[in-house]
Amino acid sequence: MSYVLWRSIMHERSLVQTLLNQVQQIVADDGGGVVKEIQVQVGDLSGVEPLLFESAFTELAREWFPQECRLVLDIVPVKAECRLCGQCFEVQDNEFLCPACGTGPVEVIQGDQVKLMSITVDSENSVSGAKS
Ligand SMILES: [Zn+2]
Repeated sequence: MSYVLWRSIMHERSLVQTLLNQVQQIVADDGGGVVKEIQVQVGDLSGVEPLLFESAFTELAREWFPQECRLVLDIVPVKAECRLCGQCFEVQDNEFLCPACGTGPVEVIQGDQVKLMSITVDSENSVSGAKS
C-alpha cells in the first residue's frame, strides 16, 4: 500500500467518523432509534473517493450501530457562479471559466463538500416505552 493511498483512506475515515458523530447526535436529540439509512451528498470536488468512503463507512458503522445501516451516496457535479456576470454553470474537466463572459472570477457554489442529507430512523424500536 502506497503512502498516498493510505493518506487518502485516513482522510475518508476521519470524514466518516465526523459524519457518524453528527448522525448520532441528531438521532439522540430526536429521541433515539435505529439508524437504517444515511444519505450523503458528495461533491466531485470534495476530494472524497466514493469507494474509499463506502469501505470506511462499512467498517466504522459496525462499531457505531447495532444493526446494519445503509449508506447512500449522492454524487453531485461541481457548479460555479461567475462573480462578474452572475452566470451559473457546471464545471467540467476542472475548467473554472465563465462560459458567458469568459473573464470573471468564479465561485464554487456546489460540489466541493460532503454533506449529510438525510437519516432514516426506524423509530418503532425506540418508542416502545421500555422504561421500567
Ligand atoms: Zn461571467
